[in-house]
Amino acid sequence: MTAPRMPALFFGHGSPMNALEDNPMTRSWTAMGQRLRRPRALLCISAHWETKGVLITAAEHPRTIHDFYGFPQALYDVTYPAPGDPALAKALEARLAPFRARADLDGWGLDHGTWSVLKFLFPKADVPTLQLSLDLRRTPAEHYAIGQALAPLREEGVMILGMGNIVHNLRLFNPRALQPLPWAQTFDDIVAAKIEAGDHAGLIDYRAIGPEAALAVPEPDHFLPLLYTLATQAADETAQVFNKVVVGSLSMTSAAVGLAA
Ligand code: ZN
Repeated sequence: MTAPRMPALFFGHGSPMNALEDNPMTRSWTAMGQRLRRPRALLCISAHWETKGVLITAAEHPRTIHDFYGFPQALYDVTYPAPGDPALAKALEARLAPFRARADLDGWGLDHGTWSVLKFLFPKADVPTLQLSLDLRRTPAEHYAIGQALAPLREEGVMILGMGNIVHNLRLFNPRALQPLPWAQTFDDIVAAKIEAGDHAGLIDYRAIGPEAALAVPEPDHFLPLLYTLATQAADETAQVFNKVVVGSLSMTSAAVGLAA
């Protein structure tokens, strides 16, 4: 008996405050969670875990990490007590041996890139959840190659979730001016079209999209998780864009691969 292939998704996550809010975005995450079959495990690639080398969380009970400053106490009180899956972490270490991946026993846990969305997607926190780090030293093409190596996991009941933002420039973010900035909208539109066209080469080489790229992706951390999700796309699949929203210099635009209609 073969398990049906799990979808892979990329979520624009935005502010950690979403974890406490009932807003159109968090409602869309709840609705998406109700559409998804229960996976055997979740493998999250969050913008917020950058390391030297490729690491995989391997704790039996990954801790909830509050990796931000200056937010209300209520946000520090949020926990996401999903179990880990040390055996899967070990299997992943072997699968990603060509990238010298290592299981990380207690260094990291689940950061807000992961739990601010999972809190709505899988509110019971009962699906084993792992994180895979972003190796700072790798090129976008190498990140994509790591994603390709993860693709077979989808046949084994593992859901791969990239957690980032396609447009993410906090330096230019003005909470009182939430209209999309023109360059942010342009970049988001081009990336969305490339996702739907399956132009992965054009997304790996996102810096060549135009002068907007340097503003939209001042650091690669929030963009790279998208490449992991898309890299798992099979030849017979298409990707859909959803939650296409640009807020100032941030976009929440998200993508799904292999999601049943
Ligand atoms: Zn973030």
